Amino acid sequence: MKKYILHNLEIIHNRINLACEKAGRNPNEVRLLLATKTVSPDRIKIALENGQTLIGENKIQELKEKYEALKGTLHENHFIGHLQTNKIKDILKYEVTCIQSLDRLDLAEKLHQRLSADNKTLEVLIQVNTSNEESKFGINPGAAIELIKNVSQFPTLKIKGLMTIGLFSAEAEKVRQCFKILKNLQQEIIRENIPNVEMKELSMGMSGDLETAIEEGSTIVRVGTAVFGARMHPDSYYWNEGTIENKE
Ligand SMILES: *Cc1c(COP(=O)(O)O)cnc(C)c1O
Repeated sequence: MKKYILHNLEIIHNRINLACEKAGRNPNEVRLLLATKTVSPDRIKIALENGQTLIGENKIQELKEKYEALKGTLHENHFIGHLQTNKIKDILKYEVTCIQSLDRLDLAEKLHQRLSADNKTLEVLIQVNTSNEESKFGINPGAAIELIKNVSQFPTLKIKGLMTIGLFSAEAEKVRQCFKILKNLQQEIIRENIPNVEMKELSMGMSGDLETAIEEGSTIVRVGTAVFGARMHPDSYYWNEGTIENKE
């Protein structure tokens, strides 16, 4: 298992380096986030003990289950899944340093209330739906600037950039369009010069499309399968379940 994961990590770093070279970018500008949904703490630890620093979970339940086992191993944890407002307390308890999936105002409002009470701040990325697929979360590109202006009013939330899940397609050019939308939106937001808003980070690109994402300006690629192997559940299990919101 260890050999398998380390070998895969080496391949991923080579892919990132090569893509950066092609795009004329410095590989230090692109951070690797390991998407660890369904991955056991033992396997995650192998990666963390061998140079990796950043992981991302999709579900509070998994965050909770792995928390104790990973606590002693230095790392940073981002949340990359759909977040229900009734789970906010947990996300703060399990020391997530960034929520990459902030996509609506009521969630921002409740996060702010909680953070204010705890005297804390939290980094966030705004998740944008660039593929126009109903199954995915994220704010529509056309509504993103208004959302960001509203979220920027909450001093506890530090907006650092944007996140998207590209279209699932074998056609690289269609996927590229999604990443271009995110990049263009970033540029537009920078021009707006909104106080309390930084737009440095673009979290885009996964196992299958990280090269395209890097060419289009990604600063965080989120990789699961290509490091840990195939998952048992289809991704729709992670990306659709929240459409039925728990009653709050
Ligand atoms: C699972 C997941 C990834 C990684 O996907 P892979 O295809 O396994 O690399 C990236 N981003 C999000 C939001 C995910 O849920």
